[in-house]
Amino acid sequence: MKKVILVTGAAKGIGRGIVEELSKNDENTIIVNYNKSKSEAIELKEKIGKNIEIYKADVTDNVEVNNMVNYIINKYGKIDVLINNAGISQIKMFNDITEEDWNNMISTNLTSAFFTTQAVIDNMIHNKNGCIINISSIWGMVGGSCEVHYSAAKAGLIGMSKALAKELGLSNIRVNVIAPGDIDTDMNNSLSKESIEIIKEETPLGRIGRPIDIARCVKWLIEDEFTTGQVISPNGGWVI
Ligand code: NAP
Repeated sequence: MKKVILVTGAAKGIGRGIVEELSKNDENTIIVNYNKSKSEAIELKEKIGKNIEIYKADVTDNVEVNNMVNYIINKYGKIDVLINNAGISQIKMFNDITEEDWNNMISTNLTSAFFTTQAVIDNMIHNKNGCIINISSIWGMVGGSCEVHYSAAKAGLIGMSKALAKELGLSNIRVNVIAPGDIDTDMNNSLSKESIEIIKEETPLGRIGRPIDIARCVKWLIEDEFTTGQVISPNGGWVI
């Protein structure tokens, strides 16, 4: 079946990996949301060529989110899959986190998913079909030292997803969470080589993840029909 898929924060990193994997299926139309990474978004569109659109919107801005979703629904009539991937991270001791840091973290990683989900949900309920995938983190499951605000936002995404899965199941809308371990993207640029080596040593599969590892999980969750309210954690066994 032809699917219309919106991926937030998708010009680079994990989001880009998801778009590259899902675009292998010619039946998918993918909307690549970006905010700052315009040149990467244009380059991705040129690389993939067909069945892809790029759309600039700041997912922390409810008006921009609604404009984006309305544009997609007016043009394609529906949104089948929403992937809330946009996010930021920050490493800081708890006492150094400012109110601004806290609000930024919650708004980009959690409130953004509230905005996008509210924007798409009437259409999904009307179609009695929908798949929502929220990209959380292992730190949302087990807590990350010096990432309290990030962990809180990512744990919030898990709670939101489980509750929504219960509320929307009868409308045939599945809501699941992917909680990746350490993935090789710009988000981890600040990690030293030594820290990455330590993570590899602590990981049973002996490596850190790649965007494709998350993208394969996303693809499976889209195709599946009986999984909802679950947290799936591709992390190489780092957290078991
Ligand atoms: P990344 O390369 O830094 O990408 C982050 C993405 O989020 C960018 O595409 C960015 O878009 C987008 N974004 C940030 N703020 C936005 C906003 N206000 N509006 C729209 N888009 C926004 O990091 P990544 O590793 O791919 O992260 C993707 C997701 O995976 C995040 O939710 C992250 O928390 C999660 N995650 C990552 C890891 C990891 O180890 N890398 C592990 C667990 C979970 P622009 O550049 O266009 O602004």
